[in-house]
Amino acid sequence: MELEKLSIRQIHQDLIDKKFSAEELAKFFLDKIRKEDGEINSFITITEDLALKQAKKADEIIAKKNDLPLLGGVPCAIKDNILVEGIKCTSASKILENYIAPYDATVIKKIKEQGAVILGKTNMDEFAMGSSTENSAFFCTKNPCDTSRVPGGSSGGSAAAVSAGFCKFALGSDTGGSIRQPASFCGVAGLKPSYGTVSRYGVMAYASSLDQIGSFGKSVEDCRDAFKAIKGKDPLDSTSLKEPADSEKIDLRNLKIGIPKEYFVAGMDKEVEKTVKEAIGKYEKMGAEIIEVSLPHTEYALPCYYIIATAEASANLARFDGIKYGSSEVGNSEVKDLLEVYIKSREKYFGSEVKRRIMLGTYVLSSGYYDAYYKQAQKVRSLVRGDFEKALSRADILLTPVSPTLPFKIGEKMDDPLEMYLSDIYTISINLAGVGALSLPAGWVESPDDKAKKLPIGMQLIAKPFEEEKIFQAAMAFEK
Ligand code: GLN
Repeated sequence: MELEKLSIRQIHQDLIDKKFSAEELAKFFLDKIRKEDGEINSFITITEDLALKQAKKADEIIAKKNDLPLLGGVPCAIKDNILVEGIKCTSASKILENYIAPYDATVIKKIKEQGAVILGKTNMDEFAMGSSTENSAFFCTKNPCDTSRVPGGSSGGSAAAVSAGFCKFALGSDTGGSIRQPASFCGVAGLKPSYGTVSRYGVMAYASSLDQIGSFGKSVEDCRDAFKAIKGKDPLDSTSLKEPADSEKIDLRNLKIGIPKEYFVAGMDKEVEKTVKEAIGKYEKMGAEIIEVSLPHTEYALPCYYIIATAEASANLARFDGIKYGSSEVGNSEVKDLLEVYIKSREKYFGSEVKRRIMLGTYVLSSGYYDAYYKQAQKVRSLVRGDFEKALSRADILLTPVSPTLPFKIGEKMDDPLEMYLSDIYTISINLAGVGALSLPAGWVESPDDKAKKLPIGMQLIAKPFEEEKIFQAAMAFEK
């Protein structure tokens, strides 16, 4: 039996039918990671003891009740900015290299209650700032579809782990595309839920008004099953909102799919354009009605995002000062006073992209510049949100590309931050608007430098807040 190919639901059934035990399953995946992750580098920490403990617990429940919650015994991986009690949580930063999480994030509590088996913590861009996982302070993760290419980012480790078959689902965070873009690059499904759907309690904040935790699965169904386990209002996160109502089963013949005209422009990769357009054609064949919609403020979304996200990041990262939190230069003999502890610790342990963003964010918030940048960006954000409200009043779902390019080569964009920022041109507006979006494979093409390898091209389905179920139904119909 090829355990890595089973769906979450199949595993669930097989565990209850005692075809294998949760412990055997956990050992199989831990072994696979040990043998194969040397080439991919998706994990920062392997949590073998925790995994085996959870697996044994799942087996005990099956022995007693002959039943188990859906995620019981199912092996998963967690992005390293989400707290798992007693386990190192680094956000891929030197400043948190030795930080042990003192409690479980709400999403972890929820999946542990179901009995999920946590295999480890995955690599990411430092503090989730990046689009390739190359900004990790430790090492770069490789794309399992072609190891000369990046897995996307910032949740590249989670996407790669699912793609390589190291686990059945993974959790990540998405502030401007960090779940959807790596899902697209690694050929898996990844959901950024609408803002407030999933609790952020226990996730290290990057930009609090944009951050959402979401799920990855090899199939849309696996991604959906994981999402269902983590969603819900949480008294510990005042921005979490009421349970989304499950919409009834949708009929594709009544589905109106909007195609934003601003998302198909000169400069996008020809293969991406062709593959996504073919996917639109398939929806049309299935009976959906395709209409053109407009998101007229699209061109302002990227600058707007890089003002709001960096402003919030500069505030959120102020706590890492070598005293309150983080690696410290406090014992260094050259450090004379408290201010120097702050300065030297931050200088030594933050990476360059993080420093760039803290400086940019501090600048746009500072007196004299606040009105011109931060306040202006907030106004633009309202316009972007309005675009989506209007488009989603005409269409049930919007369909767009996820990334303007194929997964790029390791190192290709590292010298040019603006070039890197452009990777998220199709994903960041969704965070500004607070709506939900799923990335799923639209098709696969030959790798330009190795015909034997296939590279995935993702597409994004977007719906109104709390209409995740509509997105999933439409995505599963396509996948089928
Ligand atoms: N690439 C974007 C950034 O660097 C988005 C990252 C994310 O969603 N966390 O800000």
